[in-house]
Amino acid sequence: PVSTNSEPSVFSRIIAREIPATIVAETDRVIAFKDVAPKAPVHVIVTPKTEQYRDVVELAAGDPALLAELVAVATDVAAVEAGGQFRLIFNTGANAGQTVFHVHAHVLAGRLEEGSLG
Ligand code: 5GP
Repeated sequence: PVSTNSEPSVFSRIIAREIPATIVAETDRVIAFKDVAPKAPVHVIVTPKTEQYRDVVELAAGDPALLAELVAVATDVAAVEAGGQFRLIFNTGANAGQTVFHVHAHVLAGRLEEGSLG
């Protein structure tokens, strides 16, 4: 499934270095950067460089190896930033709080801000 968005997502603009972000890990196909509005002491976004999958359901169906690579990058980030203890969250759908329709995982560790999981 291909995204029908006509504009590049905010994450595509980070990947293209059009807007700044604190990048903490990168492979050929995946990038990780700090969330601009952190909900926990460690809050990193991990996302494929391709914009073609809008959520984890589409990614799992369309490219399971890329999903596995994303989880591996998240694991590496969590090892460095949080001693390997972390939450991995994929908000899926607007009613679940998804605001950027370019599949991404949140790596969260440490104490969450009050109300941050709804
Ligand atoms: P969602 O709600 O779609 O699961 O998560 C989107 C996340 O992207 C939010 O936590 C939000 O703070 C983060 N975000 C949105 N715009 C930017 C940006 O320009 N830079 C960074 N680093 N994070 C962003």
